[in-house]
Amino acid sequence: MLLFLSSATTTAATSLFLSLSKLTPPLSLLRFSTMSSINLQSHAFAGNPIKAKTPKSNDPFSSNSALETLKSHILSNTHDAISPNFKVLPFRKGRPLAGSQGSSPNWHLGWLSLGDCKGLLADFTVKLEGNSLVYLGSKSEEDSVYWAIDVSEDDKLVDELGKKYFSFVELRTLMVATDWSDSRAMADLAVAGHARALLEWHGTSRFCGHCGCKTVPMEAGKRVQCSNELCKKRIYPRVDPVVIMLVIDKENDRALLSRQSRYVPRMWSCLAGFIEPGESLEEAVRRETWEETGIEVGEVVYHSSQPWPVGPSSMPCQLMVGFYAYAKSLEISVDKDELEDAQWHSREDVKKALTFAEYEKAQRTAAFKVEQICKGVTQNQNLSSDFNTESGELASMFIPGPYAIAHHLISTWVFQGVPVSSSDNPLKQPISSFSNFCSEKEIGIRGKRC
Ligand SMILES: [Zn+2]
Repeated sequence: MLLFLSSATTTAATSLFLSLSKLTPPLSLLRFSTMSSINLQSHAFAGNPIKAKTPKSNDPFSSNSALETLKSHILSNTHDAISPNFKVLPFRKGRPLAGSQGSSPNWHLGWLSLGDCKGLLADFTVKLEGNSLVYLGSKSEEDSVYWAIDVSEDDKLVDELGKKYFSFVELRTLMVATDWSDSRAMADLAVAGHARALLEWHGTSRFCGHCGCKTVPMEAGKRVQCSNELCKKRIYPRVDPVVIMLVIDKENDRALLSRQSRYVPRMWSCLAGFIEPGESLEEAVRRETWEETGIEVGEVVYHSSQPWPVGPSSMPCQLMVGFYAYAKSLEISVDKDELEDAQWHSREDVKKALTFAEYEKAQRTAAFKVEQICKGVTQNQNLSSDFNTESGELASMFIPGPYAIAHHLISTWVFQGVPVSSSDNPLKQPISSFSNFCSEKEIGIRGKRC
């Protein structure tokens, strides 16, 4: 089954090519180093700082305790400061409220205090209820609990929020605009991604799939439950796992890159596809590669995984699971229903495609666009125009930017070879669970490591 990559990948924007590692050189040095690998501490949308630890149920920062406090505060008419602080992030049609100062950080999330949120909603006679808000997480060291609210259905309120609190900006635009050296911006991106995924899931989970009755949010929006007393089905947020793989011809030192028709010109990327029910990750890698290109895959090696909350709204959050896949056959037979093209590329050719200038340009363009949107200058949130071909400057092909796991799979192969253990993996994510799922065939291939 073909994976419908989001327009973030297909419009391809790319992003600033910066390492978050403390050991890496500053941006000024990296700008002039056109050939190097990135060493991010975590993928875009991973590393969410307010979700890292789940408070115990009796903790005031837990979802249930915070919801009770929230409800009592909503009902009260006092404006006294409360503890913990409640911070609310409004969304409209999947877009978080964001602001831009035109400097570093080049954008920030538009958090509202509960009082502001309550006041704004009251001005528009919208009743704020505990169930309107979805719990995102907490930071006990800042005495804060974080929530998201979907305000898509009230246009006047949206206009007012836009005037007072900047603008609702497409998350993919923010993703491309994010300065990778700025840990706060990366954290904001992860928080916004999680919030968007949860709200989108709530939007598509309003009715019970078992009996058709309405559902109601439970546990501060962490799940929903059927309102039919005879059913009471519990429904939990959905994650759609996807395998994404760089297929490698070890003998000839080449990698298989492909194009989908929806990609912008010159962009090539990894193969990818959804995992089917009853299938292991390794089986999905082999099946998808075979279906799309006719190539047989032997050994499959895990690289890392990335939450991807910027796909279609019917899939509120994909989980991209990245692999290297070693080809056992080399003849390509492209399934034209799924791909426009697939070709073997030498390491040198792929290295040329990793041109820093292009990623920097895309990041600057997106950051400028966020600023313009927040100023109300433009409503155009289409990023496809970011990829102008400037003769003599750009490579003949490019790969998705560092916000995408495809970039890291490809650049790791180009610059470092393929990691075969967690200690070699630049993203430092364990592959220990791999051994639990090895088939006998894989044990034969992988020998002692499995
Ligand atoms: Zn039901």
